Amino acid sequence: MSDFFQMSHIYKRYQTGGEALTVLKDVNLTVEPGEYLSVLGPSGSGKSTLMNIAGCLDTPTEGEYILNGAHVDEMDAHALALARSREIGFIFQSSQLLSRLDAQKNVELPLIYAGARPSERARRAREMLDRVGLSDRMHHFPSQLSGGQQQRVAIARALVTDPRILLADEPTGALDQATGRQVMALFRALNDEGRTILMITHDLSIARCARRVVHIVDGVLTEGGDARNMQSEAAS
Ligand code: ADP
Ligand code: MG
Repeated sequence: MSDFFQMSHIYKRYQTGGEALTVLKDVNLTVEPGEYLSVLGPSGSGKSTLMNIAGCLDTPTEGEYILNGAHVDEMDAHALALARSREIGFIFQSSQLLSRLDAQKNVELPLIYAGARPSERARRAREMLDRVGLSDRMHHFPSQLSGGQQQRVAIARALVTDPRILLADEPTGALDQATGRQVMALFRALNDEGRTILMITHDLSIARCARRVVHIVDGVLTEGGDARNMQSEAAS
């Protein structure tokens, strides 16, 4: 399946106070099943805009986006909501957990929306928390967890519906270096198991954890090649 995730000639324009701002300029991006890709670019380069379009949270001004064989621009609100809940798992810079729910209940949330039975929800949430190394923190509330643990709960929540692709926008942005490395080790393990990952970051050392890196500067996307060949760039 070659057209699993494909953006062609994507533009995003904003009209602010009479001035037109083009934030994404002819973006072409294909992600194959099982790929682990990062988009590297400085602040303000259009990364989150791209991610929101990828996640069907926003629509492009122009261009075509095909998700799992379906044309996103032809989907109605219901189909979009289904695509979001079935095909996509989201991770943001802050874990965005609900403070009044414990770890297990936070992870169960997407399954409630998906209509799973309570026993099934509990079982799958516990399995996923175990997978991210938090089997001993099921009933901790977010305030009782470290930043890295909170982010791992968020990863479990993103994966509990078994989405086709994991989208991560600056997933280590709020973490210290050591904790960020743990989250990157988890991403790599998930990708080794076949999980497709698209990660967005401004941090070269984080981007290089992916298997393929593309660059975005001022809304223009360019291929960066194999992540392991970026050593010299990292040093400069
Ligand atoms: P990044 O995530 O790479 O930091 P963003 O995608 O958030 O960048 O933003 C890219 C550019 O688009 C910025 O210059 C930002 O000011 C602009 N932008 C984002 N959202 C809007 C909006 N709703 N209206 C106008 N401009 C926006
Ligand atoms: Mg951003």
